[in-house]
Amino acid sequence: MRVFRMASFSVLLLSCVFWAFASTEGQSVYQTEIEAELTFLEKARGENPDLDTLLSESILKEITGTGDIREVLRRYLQGREESTKEWEKQQASIQKMVNWGQTAYLEILPLVEFYASRQDLKTEAAVSYLIKTEKNTILFDLGRNAENGDPSPLLYNMEKLGVSLEDVDTIVISHNHDDHTGGGEWSRQKTFSATATQIPLGNKKVYTPIPMTYPGLEPICSTKPIRVAQGVATTGVITNQLFFLGRIEEQALAVNVSGKGIVLIAGCGHQTLSRIIDRAEALFDQPIYGLIGGLHYAVTGSRGSWKGIGVHRYVGTGRVPWRPYTLEDVRHKIEMLKARNPQLVGLSPHDSCDGAMAQFRQAFGDAYRYVEVGKKISIN
Ligand SMILES: [Zn+2]
Ligand SMILES: [Zn+2]
Repeated sequence: MRVFRMASFSVLLLSCVFWAFASTEGQSVYQTEIEAELTFLEKARGENPDLDTLLSESILKEITGTGDIREVLRRYLQGREESTKEWEKQQASIQKMVNWGQTAYLEILPLVEFYASRQDLKTEAAVSYLIKTEKNTILFDLGRNAENGDPSPLLYNMEKLGVSLEDVDTIVISHNHDDHTGGGEWSRQKTFSATATQIPLGNKKVYTPIPMTYPGLEPICSTKPIRVAQGVATTGVITNQLFFLGRIEEQALAVNVSGKGIVLIAGCGHQTLSRIIDRAEALFDQPIYGLIGGLHYAVTGSRGSWKGIGVHRYVGTGRVPWRPYTLEDVRHKIEMLKARNPQLVGLSPHDSCDGAMAQFRQAFGDAYRYVEVGKKISIN
């Protein structure tokens, strides 16, 4: 009995020592990076007064639950390492999408965006696009409805543009952020809504990147790429770690246009352009013909302001706030996309700034398309 007690005590002691050693090791791995990042931060503070406000104890606590910058950094670095591993795992399991069909025709009509093509249409820093193919009508994301209006800007614009929810056979949610699910209240409940109340959506098919519910419907959550209509598939979920907001799982849409190639449609673009391109190239044999949607390049300005700070510049890019995107970075991203020779490029103004949009316009010339409420982007 005594021997047994001694033995189990030793095992307990050993596992405690091991645990302490492992956790000290784990901490020290990030400790070096944390110190290096804090040195960067101290240098950046002098040049960027936003950082003092944004990284103050009270604001950090409000967003992340802790006011300790070291702890926020540790979580971010650990999350980034884990999400990179997860991305590599997701990418390694990708098999070519076959027999998913094609469409001779594609029309993308922005229903919610930061800019509109007409004054009688409503705008907000959010996304909802109507996607029409030969056989289907797909609604990609549902805007934000920030003022909880009924009708929401989405439904208001739909009516002005002669579009009815009844025309829609499929809904695809890119990710669970308030500017894509129809509002923060819905995101928090892991659901979505086209307006202030959840109206009946008939028997529409719904595809979500994380498990979500909707009264009377059974949304399909597929983290892997999935065909949602003839010639239309999701890219599958792509993971990224955001400094303030934590892990995000986002999917884009891909449309196979006959004789042209793949048109990618992105929501916020938290996945990063390089991962979206890598995924599309792993998944499809056809070339990338176009890319429309959000990539989150807020450099010269920000669509959202919170406590006097342009939040898009710092929140949602996957970078630390003291090294936000520069126009130089945007030019590198443009080169990456240009190397694929796309014939159709439109940057969503909902999470990118006018400066980044100007760079895209200049780089892609005739291939550039304005992404504005009411302005159809057609390919046939
Ligand atoms: Zn967004
Ligand atoms: Zn987002």
